Amino acid sequence: MRILITGAAGFLGSHLTDRLLADGHEVIGLDNFITGSRDNIAHLMGNEKFTFYKHDVSNYIFVQKKVDAVLHLASPASPNPKSPLAYFNLPIQTMKAGALGTHNSLGVAKAHKARFLLASTSEIYGDPLVHPQAENYPGNVDPVGTRAVYDEAKRFAESLTMAYHRQHGVDTRIVRIFNTYGPRMDLEDGRALPNLLKQALLGQALTVYGDGQQTRSFCYVDDLVDGIIRLLMSNEHLPVNIGNPIEMSLFQFAQTINKIVGNKAGITFIPNARSERDPQRRQPDITRAQTILGWEPKVSLEEGLRKTIPYFKQKLGIA
Ligand code: NAD
Ligand code: UDP
Repeated sequence: MRILITGAAGFLGSHLTDRLLADGHEVIGLDNFITGSRDNIAHLMGNEKFTFYKHDVSNYIFVQKKVDAVLHLASPASPNPKSPLAYFNLPIQTMKAGALGTHNSLGVAKAHKARFLLASTSEIYGDPLVHPQAENYPGNVDPVGTRAVYDEAKRFAESLTMAYHRQHGVDTRIVRIFNTYGPRMDLEDGRALPNLLKQALLGQALTVYGDGQQTRSFCYVDDLVDGIIRLLMSNEHLPVNIGNPIEMSLFQFAQTINKIVGNKAGITFIPNARSERDPQRRQPDITRAQTILGWEPKVSLEEGLRKTIPYFKQKLGIA
């Protein structure tokens, strides 16, 4: 297949590109580098099956060559208000990537009679009132809260994707991605894993926000990519959660990082830099992914951290 990937220079987009090229597909990547990096795709330059265009997907997308699939990943994704890369600090760009970018990407899929896959997010569940979150839970999002620029853009993107499927018959997929980590995450984007792993490798105390009892579950990037590709190759049009169901508190997560790295500096609890809407519990119900796609994650947190550490050390310039 020839596959168009928006957000190809990002963390997940670049891993998906690698996997699709390895599987023998051709990839056209689009990115405007607002939160991604040329470094993530530098190794692909010169690969005749990869072409790249710097483009803002909020503007009309014209693709001359026939594409068979469109994967729309372009969007800022970090929730840390202290980071310039966070959607809090790029509110209009985030809403445009989710709304106009999704519209333009769907337009390409419709014109090319191509499959379409939307990278949605567990954030569409907001601060969930049911636990774990299954795809039929409609969510708990404040439309004027500080996270809304991301959450509501993704919710709109899901609705628009279903509208194109129902009205125009576009062959769409929606993946709801839960917290994912691995090499090529931006060390400065403020998400939990880059913050805490960087601190551990530098021998600093890990900053856990609040009392550290809020929970997440962390999926290694190779598992996520495998789930996305299975979904792309399936015939499923309704949303599918992809994430690791092993839930842990941020305190436990920080302890695991310190143990793997051998960091003796411990943990420091600091006031949550985020809004009151930091979701308190999050865990995917992956029953649909298991039954429809035959997918479940295989990489343990310990193994995933060990695979991620060399990249972080290289970026930090430590042996
Ligand atoms: P990322 O910031 O590394 O990648 C996003 C990429 O999109 C970047 O390269 C950025 O430059 C590009 N981009 C943003 N707006 C654009 C625009 N208007 N035009 C062109 N390119 C644009 O983030 P990521 O973690 O790789 O996330 C990729 C996708 O997956 C996002 O849609 C995000 O919402 C979703 N997601 C990620 C996670 C996660 O844990 N990493 C969880 C849920 C959802
Ligand atoms: N967090 C933390 N310390 C940090 C960064 C994040 O305790 O240095 C917490 C944050 O408050 C949240 C969780 O880690 O409860 C996951 O945050 P992340 O930024 O990875 O993404 P989110 O799941 O909130 O979208």
